[in-house]
Amino acid sequence: MSWLDRQSFLGPDSDQVLQDLTVGLVGLGGGNSHVVQQLAHLGVGGFVLVDDDVISETNLNRLVGGTLEDVLEARPKTEIAKRVVLSVNPEARIACHQAKWQEVAEHLRACDIIIGGVDRIIAKSELEAFCRRFLTPYIDMGMDVHRLGDADEFLVAGQVVLSSPSTPCLRCLGVVTDSALTEEAGQYGDAGGKPQVVWPNGILASTAVGLLVQLFTPWHGRPVRSAYYAYDANQGTMTVSERLGRRASKDCPHFPPDEVGDPRFDIREVVTRAETPIERGTIDTVPLAEPKHRLTALLAMVLDLLPFKVRR
Ligand SMILES: [Zn+2]
Repeated sequence: MSWLDRQSFLGPDSDQVLQDLTVGLVGLGGGNSHVVQQLAHLGVGGFVLVDDDVISETNLNRLVGGTLEDVLEARPKTEIAKRVVLSVNPEARIACHQAKWQEVAEHLRACDIIIGGVDRIIAKSELEAFCRRFLTPYIDMGMDVHRLGDADEFLVAGQVVLSSPSTPCLRCLGVVTDSALTEEAGQYGDAGGKPQVVWPNGILASTAVGLLVQLFTPWHGRPVRSAYYAYDANQGTMTVSERLGRRASKDCPHFPPDEVGDPRFDIREVVTRAETPIERGTIDTVPLAEPKHRLTALLAMVLDLLPFKVRR
């Protein structure tokens, strides 16, 4: 009998697969506070938690696991996420980094997948570029509130995108655009903060977790490499975006095959690190061992890229 018995339908080895996974979560505010909680309940074993911020009073409307006491103590968002995970699974391997992700990028390299809970378009773009470089699948979540005309009516919408090497990227799919980057740069320093609310974040986060499970367990029966779900809270719909269908058969011009991958990648280094025992409990600032799923994913992606090389 295991605490994960009720999810055995995910596949015969799914408990072990999920336990062996290491997930990088960048930004632990609204969306990723749901994601980290769900991953803990799923039995995911490894977490690299990155956020440079502490919880503030205006985060309490949406940060799952955050308390008024945390606000009074100005507790780092990474510490709150760690507490949520350990309260479910004390065996989880957790590396906490209260820093900007660029400062701890070497710790994110070891992750099997990275999930971005970052608001700014430039942050999404840079994080995706990092993931492409190291052949890591990236899931992006985004939520927006738009005023409809002059009326006091608002459209709440969002998207979840799975971006893997050699599949359409955030630029291909129109999530990152030059006009959005320019507009955002013009608003830099605007202290107002984007409107955010808890329930759309929960829906987007659940969709992201579903994609992760589909990616790593045999549950779905159909492997997924690329996805774009569009959420319309006013209509109450989550739909597969037509943008993905339009781009699916085209090569991504933004990350050509010869510009992805780590030129310093050395398989011997991975094997050596994989043999290093992984410490249980919290292991702040200690780099995690390279998970074995990374090797499988790397091999699959290298094989996938070969036809492009031959055609060139
Ligand atoms: Zn692209």
